[in-house]
Amino acid sequence: MYSKHVDIEPGDRASSCRGAMRPERVEHRGGKGLVIVHRCAVCGFVRPNRIADDPAQGDDIDAVVALMSRRG
Ligand SMILES: [Zn+2]
Repeated sequence: MYSKHVDIEPGDRASSCRGAMRPERVEHRGGKGLVIVHRCAVCGFVRPNRIADDPAQGDDIDAVVALMSRRG
């Protein structure tokens, strides 16, 4: 689920940070379904990714469940 911080808006490749975007938590958003919230390890930039939107990223449902079950 890891990606790099290359976007400011999703897909725009406008950031030059290139930090590692780490999956931090999973949220359920009404009407949008589950989103994985990624935080950049370098600058702290936060970006939610809808799980269903980005199958190419290879999100592993087991890892998602592990994130959801983790508290704190
Ligand atoms: Zn960054």
